[in-house]
Amino acid sequence: MSNIRFDALKMAFDRKPAVVEEPEGKVKDYFASDVFTREKMKEYIAQDVLDQLFDDVDNGRTIHRDIAGVVAIGIRKWAMDRGATHFTHWFQPLTGGTAEKHDAFFTLKNGTLLEEFSGESLYQQEPDASSFPSGGIRNTFEARGYSAWDPSSPVFLIGDTLCIPTVFVAYTGEALDYKTPLIRSTASLCHAAREVCAYFDKQVKHVHANLGWEQEYFLVDEALYNARPDLMLTGRTLMGHNSAKSQQLEDHYFGAIPARVLAFMRELEYEALKAGIPVRTRHNEVAPNQFEMAPIFEEVNLANDHNLLVMSIMERVAEKHHFRVLLHEKPYAGVNGSGKHCNWSMSTNTGINLLAPGKNPYQNLQFITFLVNVLMAVQRHNGLLKASIVSATNEHRLGANEAPPAIISVFLGKQISEVLDKLEHAKAEEAIIINAKKEMKLGVANIPEILLDNTDRNRTSPFAFTGNRFEFRAVGSSANCGAAMLALNAAVADQLMLFKQEVDARIDKGEAKERVLFDVIKKYIVACKAIRFDGNGYSEEWKTEAEKRGLDCETSVPVVIDRYLSDSSINMFERTGVLTHAELQSRCEVKWETYVKKLQIESRVMGDLVVNHVLPAAKRYQTMLLQNVLAVKQVFSADETASLNAMDYIIIKQIEEHSGAILDGVERMTEARHKANRQPDERSKAVAYHDTVLPLMAEIRAHADALELIVDDELWTLPKYRELMFIH
Ligand code: ADP
Ligand code: MG
Repeated sequence: MSNIRFDALKMAFDRKPAVVEEPEGKVKDYFASDVFTREKMKEYIAQDVLDQLFDDVDNGRTIHRDIAGVVAIGIRKWAMDRGATHFTHWFQPLTGGTAEKHDAFFTLKNGTLLEEFSGESLYQQEPDASSFPSGGIRNTFEARGYSAWDPSSPVFLIGDTLCIPTVFVAYTGEALDYKTPLIRSTASLCHAAREVCAYFDKQVKHVHANLGWEQEYFLVDEALYNARPDLMLTGRTLMGHNSAKSQQLEDHYFGAIPARVLAFMRELEYEALKAGIPVRTRHNEVAPNQFEMAPIFEEVNLANDHNLLVMSIMERVAEKHHFRVLLHEKPYAGVNGSGKHCNWSMSTNTGINLLAPGKNPYQNLQFITFLVNVLMAVQRHNGLLKASIVSATNEHRLGANEAPPAIISVFLGKQISEVLDKLEHAKAEEAIIINAKKEMKLGVANIPEILLDNTDRNRTSPFAFTGNRFEFRAVGSSANCGAAMLALNAAVADQLMLFKQEVDARIDKGEAKERVLFDVIKKYIVACKAIRFDGNGYSEEWKTEAEKRGLDCETSVPVVIDRYLSDSSINMFERTGVLTHAELQSRCEVKWETYVKKLQIESRVMGDLVVNHVLPAAKRYQTMLLQNVLAVKQVFSADETASLNAMDYIIIKQIEEHSGAILDGVERMTEARHKANRQPDERSKAVAYHDTVLPLMAEIRAHADALELIVDDELWTLPKYRELMFIH
């Protein structure tokens, strides 16, 4: 009898690294060759139009339709010169991932070829998007949704298709995607940060947020993947006993990259570089067959586009190398999961990183101002920030092996903590010395420049200061990290506005600016102590301590989603203009609905797997043992039989017990699912899935994994952990 697992193993063992065609020339020769960059636009579009376009884009103004018309012609010409035949609006629906609908550049009308791509089709499209989730928005408002050009992100080519980054909104303007609120949040942050910068430097006209993502992922051989219905249908293994060796020896982390994987990575990098994504880092990650890729940081909206693009390029390139890429946060239980660390900072048009210590006391006070306001924002909105990163998939990672805990806190490190402690206890007179020339000297806060390199790392923190940026580590590998970034941008923008109000009110009363800044910062340093935690985030003591500090310790995903709808979140999002109450409500509906669907699918796949793979294999083995027992009885005397069959008796009974428990578990799980499905709304359904279905899946898994250890290896049909994780 053939066994799909052995067929797959044979295929996987026989593979050789694929041949990768290198692009010609040096990196600078092919970097962004698939992107219509500002440089290239000059060849195709008149200078006065471009001047207007860039000025509008850089100042966040709407592009006039006439300008769009001229730009569209230039875009089409460039794309067709490069062999493009189709175009698509490329957008980021709330399902996650990206969506595209391809149209040809030409149509046939009365036998004549007509050019289809006008300013209108660049500007706005109405994809037949009725099946994208809207969380009720389209019922409440208006049925249609449309996608509209985001001119701040350049258009690019994938194969023969021109991709136009777009926002996706309801006819009445409500956001149905991640990009729209992300752009709104950058505008809000720009405004608020610029106002605060004005206390220190009037030259600052523009502040933007930066994002440097680090994308972790697993690779698995295609044949083995195809033999695991759970990987194919849910992106993770729903069962599988731990491999005897996994990541204990830490011999994979930063080790030599295997040849087949290296070929994949090289091709992935070429493709990413051609798409204008400045990838720089590649290495093995902690778990076997786990890897990471990271680019140089960019403006957050562009960086997020690039991350989404990389995820789809990864999937495409992996297939060519007979791999499948697993972007799921926890494809394998018991080993490291995958995250997407989001390195976040703010910088000015004058070239200052607002989260880096400066060269003079003024810059240092500015740095401390922004740092402390970020701490305040994270403290105020720690529940919301957690909500921005939770999902059915990330749920398995948070709080598990090597992953950030499900409590948001900030790691600052020894040096910065000391600076804040000193400031807290300093008197204004000793802290701020203003000399005769009206120059300010910051007595206690002269921050040494070595700080930049001295980023002591605490891997257990979900939100760590790393010298000149914050690293939000709780974000999941499969997520659209725009969700986390827009929440962070908005929270910080709102906090900066509150700070400014407080400072201005006192300056208006005649107090000196430096004195007021110092006082308010000092007050904030005291107020934000609860969020600062440099200890071990994995420890049990921290959970107790965090609870005492009033931090959000909820771990159930459907309940954490509620944080979007707390008064403080709604007010903050409305004040900053990033999301309306209705948009928040609809987002939550989509999140609960997605949660339910994912768990429903997992639970069904689990039922199928145990009933159709695990139990039949176990039964077959049990039958073999029973036959053996009978044969022994025929050959040997009764006395001898008892001892000869003793082992088999034990295994036969174990199989019976685990099989019975599995069948019973599947029955209860199915019942729990039916009950959950009957709940009146998406939130209650999600809570029911979390509270009743999820634990039963764990219970069933434990018995299936126990059977895997007992049953003859040759009868087992599902590729095992050691095979999935060690073959490359
Ligand atoms: P790690 O040691 O955390 O794995 P990596 O070198 O893999 O660091 O990734 C660091 C990421 O942080 C890169 O994407 C890098 O561009 C980004 N980064 C560096 N400085 C900043 C900054 N000021 N703001 C935002 N991102 C930054
Ligand atoms: Mg990192």
